[in-house]
Parts: sequence; structure tokens; C-alpha cells
Amino acid sequence: MLQSMNKPGLSGSGARARTAWRGRGGWLSAGALLVAIVLAAPVSAEGILSVLARSHRQKLDELKRQAVSDPRAELLRQDFEGLLARQSPRPDVELLVVDGPVHAETLSGRVIVISAGLAVLDEGERLFILAHELGHVQMGHWAELCAVYARHIPAEVTPDVTDAVAPKLGREASALVHGHEYAADAFAWRSIRARGWGLGSVRGALMVVPNVGDTSTHPATRKRLAHLRTIGEAESRSAGLDVD
Ligand SMILES: [Zn+2]
Repeated sequence: MLQSMNKPGLSGSGARARTAWRGRGGWLSAGALLVAIVLAAPVSAEGILSVLARSHRQKLDELKRQAVSDPRAELLRQDFEGLLARQSPRPDVELLVVDGPVHAETLSGRVIVISAGLAVLDEGERLFILAHELGHVQMGHWAELCAVYARHIPAEVTPDVTDAVAPKLGREASALVHGHEYAADAFAWRSIRARGWGLGSVRGALMVVPNVGDTSTHPATRKRLAHLRTIGEAESRSAGLDVD
């Protein structure tokens, strides 16, 4: 659809629905929390890549129990198919629509999980969120994060090992995933911009649950918007990918 450079105002049931789920959890904050999860996991005689794979598999198994197939899920699937149709070759990726706290995240590097509640957003906002997650898949962010873990924990995962490396690994992983967020934002922005949507849609998506400050996994929302503004409405290359 080639229209609407800005998000239309909210009214009626859309506004009520948006208000109803706002604050139930953040699609922006549910991504790479595995830094803490993995280091706290009681594992032994297991390599870090196995631990990481297992933690995502377990989370995915839990989320699959919340899978929904209803008009909201159908709408999000149509949006997603529209994005996939523009990827060549078609990526190895699955979409799982769940009924639960509002969030979107990518697990195991290839399964995008999104809350059915996000179907109430405007089309450009939905596309931005889906394209952001698709960006993580297309750019191989999961593999990059795994590589950082493997470099810090090259042998068996034990509490002694994880305690010793946790501060440095945490800092490095956090810096990496912050860069991933900027890169996925840039990917998503170009994707929706190509379809006629404007920064208003980006702002709407990012302001669903804004981050006032940086978190371990996400830069502050104002920083993400600032990065996207450097890409602008017309440039074909991203200045926003060069992040610290
Ligand atoms: Zn992300």
C-alpha cells in the first residue's frame, strides 16, 4: 500500500484497544534477555551453544501453547507474507502469533513470535514491528550473539566460569544487541519506507512501550528514533548502522 506518510490519529475502538493492552509488557523489551537467563541457568557438562539453543527451544515450546488462529493472527500473517514476498531468496523463517502479553521477539534465530494484540495497530506500525524482527533473522543476529557467548565461554558452562566472565560478557553482549536493534530498525524502516509509510509509523510502533533510558537489550527509544532520522526519508544507505 502506497499511502500515509504519517500514522492516522487513533479513534473509536482502535484507541480503546490500544489503551487496553498498553503496558501489558513491551514488545521492545522482550528480545535478548538471555544474557541474564543463560547465566542464571543451572546447567552442567554442557556447552554454551547447547544452553542457548535449549533456552530458546524451551521458551518457544511455552509460547506455542499460546498460539492463536483468529482474525488478528490472520491479519498479522498477511502483513508478514507481504514482507516476505519482497525478500529474495525467501528466508527460512516462521511466524508464531500468540495470545498473551504484548511483545515481539525472534527465537532460535528463525521463529518470530508476535502477540495477536499488536493487530490493533495501524498497518505501517504492524509492518515496522514485523520487519524489525525479520531484520534480525535476515542479518543473522542470533548467530552473532551466540558467537560472543562462545568466545567468552569456550568450554563447559559452570557457575565458576559464568561468574568470572559475566560482567565482560554482559557488556559485550549488550553492546552487540544494541547494535542489532539499530540495524533491525534500519532494515524495518527501509522496508516500510519502500511501501510508502513514513517515520510517523515508526514512531507509533516504537512508542507502544517506549524506553526512557537504555536497557541491557535495547537503546532508549529517543536514540532509536534519532538513528532512523539520520537515515531519513530518501537516502538509500544507512548512516544509522554505524553505532557505538
Ligand atoms: Zn529487536
